[in-house]
Parts: sequence; C-alpha cells; structure tokens
Amino acid sequence: MKKRIAILGSTGSIGVNTLDVISGLGSRYVITALTADSSIRLLAHQARKYRPKIIFVGTELLAKKIKPLIPSGTEVVFGRDDLSRIVSRSDVDLVVFAISGSACLIPLVEAIRAGKAVALANKESLVSAGEIIMKLARKHNVKIIPVDSEHSAIFQCLNAIGKEFLTKIYLTGSGGPLLKVAKDKFDSLPRNFILKHPKWKMGKKISVDSATMMNKALEIIEAKHLFGMDDKSIEVLIHPEAIIHSMTEFKDGSVLAQLGTPDMRLPIQYALTYPDRAGGVVKRLDFSMVKALTFLKPDFRKFPCLGLARTAARRGGTSPAVLCASDEEAVKNYLEGRIRFSDIPKIIEKVLSRHAEITGPSLSDILKAERWAQEEARILCRR
Ligand code: NAD
Ligand code: MG
Repeated sequence: MKKRIAILGSTGSIGVNTLDVISGLGSRYVITALTADSSIRLLAHQARKYRPKIIFVGTELLAKKIKPLIPSGTEVVFGRDDLSRIVSRSDVDLVVFAISGSACLIPLVEAIRAGKAVALANKESLVSAGEIIMKLARKHNVKIIPVDSEHSAIFQCLNAIGKEFLTKIYLTGSGGPLLKVAKDKFDSLPRNFILKHPKWKMGKKISVDSATMMNKALEIIEAKHLFGMDDKSIEVLIHPEAIIHSMTEFKDGSVLAQLGTPDMRLPIQYALTYPDRAGGVVKRLDFSMVKALTFLKPDFRKFPCLGLARTAARRGGTSPAVLCASDEEAVKNYLEGRIRFSDIPKIIEKVLSRHAEITGPSLSDILKAERWAQEEARILCRR
C-alpha cells in the first residue's frame, strides 16, 4: 500500500528537499497535504505537480489568491485549527514536520494524538515540550523518526546496537560560518555572511542559529528527549568536514558513527523509508575526496548560546521553552535589522534570568511561557 504523506512547511528548505526525495522514491508515496505560511507561488507549483487533496496557507487572503493557481480538486484551508485537522486526517499515514519555530508544537501534538507516524525536522517543539511529546508518543505508540541529521545519525546507530548499552552521544557540528571569525568581528559582518552556512543550505532561522551555535545548543536538548539521555552524557564536537553526522559510544567503549555527504535528503529519505532503505537521489560519499576528519572542542566563551542551553536543560520545566521562544524572537529582530548579532545571546540570557520557571509544566504552561518569553525578548529588542 502507498504511504500517504502530509508535509507541514513544504515550501521551506526541508519541505522542498522532502518533495525531491519523494519524487526520487517513485510511486510508493502519495502526497495528501502540503502547507505553507505565505510562499503561495511555490505552494501552487507544488500543488500542480503533486496534486494533494488539501493545502494550507497562513491567511484567508492568501487562500483566495492561491485558489485560481491550483487544480480544482485541491481544497484550500487556512487558520491554525486547520493545520491540526490536516495532520489528523484518516488519509494521512505519515506527517513530515518541516515548519520552523514554535508554530509546529500544536500540530505535532495533534498528529501524535491521532497516532500518525511522525518524521520530525522541527527541533523547537521538542526543546520546548520534549517531556510532554515523548510521553504522549509512548502513550499513543507513535515512533518519532528524527530528520535532523545528527539525530538521524544517532537513531541509525541505535538501530544497530540497543539503547540499553548507550553511554554517550557525540553530537557533531561543522562549527557554522563563524568558526574561524574572531568574536570582536561578529557585529561587522553582513547578514548575508551569517546566513551562508559553509556546509548546509537551510532556512534563515536555523542559519542564524547555526552562526550563534544555538542550533547545536537546541540539538543537545533535542537529543536528550529523543534518546532519553542526561545532557551530561551528550558532548558537542566540532567537525568542520561534516562527514560524520554524530556518534554513539556504548558500554564497552565501542563507538559507532553514521557518515554520508552533507545532504539533508539522506536523513529525510531514511525517515520516509524507515525501517527499510531505498536507492535515491543522494550522492555517494567519495573517500578519495575526504582528506581528513578533524574534531575540535566547542568554544563556550565565543558562543554563549551553548552554555545557555545547558543551563536551560538543567533547570528543566518551562526554561527550555523560554530559551527557544526568546531565541526565535531575537533572531527575527536580528533579521529585521533591529539588533546586532552579539545581542542575540544577551537577550536570551536576560529573558532566562527573569523567568520564574514552572516544574512539570502542562502544555498550556509551556505555551504561556513561550508567549511571555517572546514578549520579554520583543521589549528588549526594541530598547
Ligand atoms: P524554512 O524557513 O526554510 O521553511 C519553513 C517552512 O515552514 C516554510 O514552508 C514556511 O512557509 C513554513 N512556516 C513558517 N512559519 C510558519 C507558521 N507560523 N505556520 C505555518 N507554516 C509556517 O525552514 P527549514 O530550514 O526548512 O527548517 C524547518 C525546520 O527543520 C526547523 O525547525 C529547523 O530547525 C529544522 N531543520 C532544518 C534543517 C535544514 O537543513 N534546513 C536541518 C535540520 C533541522
Ligand atoms: Mg542538525
């Protein structure tokens, strides 16, 4: 039987790559739903090519605009509740979560409640509400298949050796665009430099997060929840070649790594075909081109976001949600030219320090903490 797929955020970097992978996999997959916030031209093009039953856009006005551009058999919806309704449809087997930021959380919860298979690229939802999501997934017997390349690597290693033997995770990262830039030069760099990652082509939010190393920081918390590890057993390693996508150490000292060309289509494809594997569109690794595999310790002084995430992870409760939401708001303001690059970690630190965290939070506590942190960060950015 064909796998029926909904892609949330189909017009973004992960979304476009997902459609590319599906085209490469052939007729075993059918697209039921595609969603975008505002890129209606691209969404209309995707709707004509993949003929989904339903598409979602952010507003009523955009829904009106896109209608004449898509096949008559495709329904258009808008509004937040519709996103949740899409993921619960009976003709959806697997949902790919490729929306960036906090907007993913509620539809993710709804998909798990509806018992859908989940391919999760969005990391912010797991960072903010990891305990609730993982608990809900266990309750509804839903397997969350990570798409983030590091977590896919760890997930693949753990399919070879059981988690009961896992003692440590080495979370690798290329170091981002600022690895070789002195800290006092950060604010003089144009935004284009910050947005141009040396190894991966990604959306704007995650590209800025890669430059501040908040991306790696969020990935520590993401790994903690996905693999049930204490954050003390997760070590970040800078690996500029980005050939090893993460490593797992086991009880006897044996280390397993997953390697491949730095191409998100590989972890995306594995999430779609899991537990099987298929031929596909991804280029093979050519070891004659790989001159060396090098590793460095991350610089916590140069990249304070790493330390902030450690603090938030240890405080737990609503703190990771506050970390995430204040980062999202600070990054948005940086992209809009309102604050300097070096202000991003300062704003997050300030918001975290003002937060009176709630332990064992409910989903509504988390959403409330996110709104509070967003507002606090917004005020600080406008000062
Ligand atoms: P992107 O900015 O390129 O795309 C985001 C998509 O989400 C777009 O389709 C956009 O229309 C949609 N969207 C944004 N805000 C929305 C909202 N409020 N409501 C509904 N839809 C909305 O982002 P991306 O780089 O593809 O990243 C997506 C997620 O995947 C992020 O959480 C990111 O951390 C994670 N991720 C991305 C990569 C990558 O290579 N790009 C790698 C690992 C993890
Ligand atoms: Mg990653």
